[in-house]
Amino acid sequence: MKLNGAAVATVAVVTLLSFLAGTSNAQGYDFFYLVMQWPRAVCNQPRSNCRAAVPQTFTIHGMWPQTNSGGSPQNCPGSLRDVRSSGRVDRTTLGAMDRQWPNLKRGGRDPNSQFWTHEWNKHGTCSRMQPQDYFRRVVDRAASVDLLRLLRSNRIQPDNRLYRQADIEAALNVYDPVVKCNDVRSGGRSYKQIHEIRFCVQRDGNRVVSCGRRTQFRSCGNGDIRFSR
Ligand code: AMP
Repeated sequence: MKLNGAAVATVAVVTLLSFLAGTSNAQGYDFFYLVMQWPRAVCNQPRSNCRAAVPQTFTIHGMWPQTNSGGSPQNCPGSLRDVRSSGRVDRTTLGAMDRQWPNLKRGGRDPNSQFWTHEWNKHGTCSRMQPQDYFRRVVDRAASVDLLRLLRSNRIQPDNRLYRQADIEAALNVYDPVVKCNDVRSGGRSYKQIHEIRFCVQRDGNRVVSCGRRTQFRSCGNGDIRFSR
């Protein structure tokens, strides 16, 4: 068969496009981290500037697009000035966000919406989803992992005691998330404490999946971990 110039060019472009689609997926990310935070561990830090009462339950920090090679696309087009007043997210979803995704810091007229807007502009815009679909998935996935109950049913609770990392991981192993620690000082000593639990969510946002080997970073050291009250 003989191909003319235009046909050769077409074949070359199609081949290049399918190669690019295969190597860097067309969405620009491979999965999400759904990041849940333990409010006490956010707020027992120096200069945390938290509001007076913080929830005694895990709350949402965000849902961040990630690539398998460790990248996290950020600040894509589609930013919003204010999530709540944008008209892009329905009232039911905003209500769930107010309950599950509070701003823990002081200040502002609508601190929750300020926090969501920061998270949308930095991370959500790179999901290639509409705000309504993105935020609905964040609250639905977060509600599907009843973290505190899961830990409690394994006798792990926020009581300032130290727990073995292996026990925490075993308690959560149905989801196989990443446990992230920060440091806290108490009684003249420094401890690693549970700060965030990062779940892996498949790219369409519809299911929590095992993080597996995707996530190698460790922030909890080798010793026991405090679960702060
Ligand atoms: P990110 O930019 O998504 O990595 O989030 C980090 C920023 O969010 C930092 O400025 C934190 O101080 C802030 N942050 C984290 N959790 C909260 C929270 N619950 N409320 C308000 N700000 C937060």
